[in-house]
Amino acid sequence: MSVKVRFAPSPTGELHVGNARVAILNWLFARSQGGVFLLRMDDTDEARSTKAFEEGIYADLDWLGLGHDEFLRQSDRYARYDEAVETLKADGRLYPCFETPDELEMKRKIRLGQGKPPVYDRGALDLSDDDRKKLEAEGRKPHWRFRLLDEAVEWDDLGRGAVHFAPGHLSDPVLIREDGRPLYTLSSVVDDGDTKVSHVIRGEDHVANTAVQVQLFKALGFDVPEFSHLPLMVGAEGKKLSKREGSLSLRELREEGMESLAVVTYLARLGTSHAPEGSETLEHLASDFDIRGFGRAAPRYDPTELSNLNAKVLHHLPFDQVQSRLKEQGLDEVSEAFWAAIHGNIDGLNEAKYWWDVCHGEITPLVEAEDKDFIAFAADHLPEGDWDETTWKAWTVAVKDATGRKGKQLFLPLRKALTGRDHGPELKDLMPLIGRDRVLARLTS
Ligand code: GLU
Repeated sequence: MSVKVRFAPSPTGELHVGNARVAILNWLFARSQGGVFLLRMDDTDEARSTKAFEEGIYADLDWLGLGHDEFLRQSDRYARYDEAVETLKADGRLYPCFETPDELEMKRKIRLGQGKPPVYDRGALDLSDDDRKKLEAEGRKPHWRFRLLDEAVEWDDLGRGAVHFAPGHLSDPVLIREDGRPLYTLSSVVDDGDTKVSHVIRGEDHVANTAVQVQLFKALGFDVPEFSHLPLMVGAEGKKLSKREGSLSLRELREEGMESLAVVTYLARLGTSHAPEGSETLEHLASDFDIRGFGRAAPRYDPTELSNLNAKVLHHLPFDQVQSRLKEQGLDEVSEAFWAAIHGNIDGLNEAKYWWDVCHGEITPLVEAEDKDFIAFAADHLPEGDWDETTWKAWTVAVKDATGRKGKQLFLPLRKALTGRDHGPELKDLMPLIGRDRVLARLTS
């Protein structure tokens, strides 16, 4: 079977880590199977869809490195959805309903009160032609429901195993709104069917949709795809993801200096038995991707783990992959030696700017009152000549021998004076980059 998957965002908001995970897993599955990744804009909700959100989605996918092989836009396909509607009407599978939301809510409560599943009672099927004419004469417009067959729906889910819905436990879904617009349940099936999607991989919040969509695929004469429903990520204490977990949109994560590879690796490995290492590439993640390798429990999204992974990813990034991005930050003369000095000590690429200023620009040296004499003394002992990675050692040994200071008392005041901070990259690597003039100026400022 040729594999085709789709990622189908609605441009009604920004992509967040939850959508991104679905996109990533679909993409990796396609790549691992030599299959096709289709990007579909589910933009039929015209009141809420915007071009800006759509552009944002392209930017996010681009950032993640998830290129698509095919593209489809739902708002181009209304004529095709109308055709499907005619087929369903001709087969007696669509029927007009006139209940208002309040009436439906009332019915739901009554059924719950009777201990019955709160499904739609198919009251509209009892309307005569005259009843319908009368309602339409009153100005009521129908919405249309798909009549489910009274049979169990079953499928072998790649994520959940065997899934079974007993007959009578699902409401006939509304496929067409009062204003004549098709709803997602229909358009998605028509698109998946027409584009021959082989696997639908999405969050488990869609399981009940799948149950009705399975019947819809069949009613429209399509092959039913394979399904995989993934447990949704949760935040602290197993609760729904929220602001407690910090930034959740890809745009925010990007702006905070997060590496896209860290986000992809973290979300690809979450819920599997593979711990992310930080040295993975997209090809590597695709090569050992296993769609059946996800646990059934809801995985916990932990921003601290993500930022720890980000630091590891940075550590593994070669200079040629960051050079242009450092330039974009205005760091013009970045050298391989600079990257080698700092890459193990930053949690995000946006921290590079500070260390660039330390090496090539201006910072405010930190000198405590009680260290003033010591720093002045150290300045007098600064080595001459060409500096290299042995300079720091030579200097501190000389200062130690002359002052008797050692350990933290020796190193920390020097570090603070040279870098303005009490921790950071190795001074033996920084000193040759900072250069004698700057070091002397900081010690004597
Ligand atoms: N546009 C739908 C959503 O964002 C797609 C769901 C699906 O994958 O079928 O929820």
